Amino acid sequence: MAFCPNCRYEYLPEVQECPDCGAALVTELPEIKVDYKDVKWVALPALSGVVYAKMVADVLDQHEIPNYIQSLFGSGGLGIISGAGLAGASARIFVPENRLKEAAEIQNEIMPDA
Ligand SMILES: [Zn+2]
Repeated sequence: MAFCPNCRYEYLPEVQECPDCGAALVTELPEIKVDYKDVKWVALPALSGVVYAKMVADVLDQHEIPNYIQSLFGSGGLGIISGAGLAGASARIFVPENRLKEAAEIQNEIMPDA
């Protein structure tokens, strides 16, 4: 596999440089160490359900973008996300401010109608 060290996108092995930014691709991404206490969390546009938010969050995980899901279902202590049972609820994903643009593009790609 080939990865762009800047964009952190994955490309086919035969790709030599990043089509987005022109950087030489590397075979392994360096690990991102996030200092969470300095992170300013910002919300992506709300999604129509926790299930969708989880789908987006999975891809954010693949891109090593830290994230967490907040259910907008109400304030009744719905802290635990239990999957399909909450379909129809609104949810939104929080990501660090410095990854917002990247995360928004990912969400938009997966959920163009959100
Ligand atoms: Zn790149």
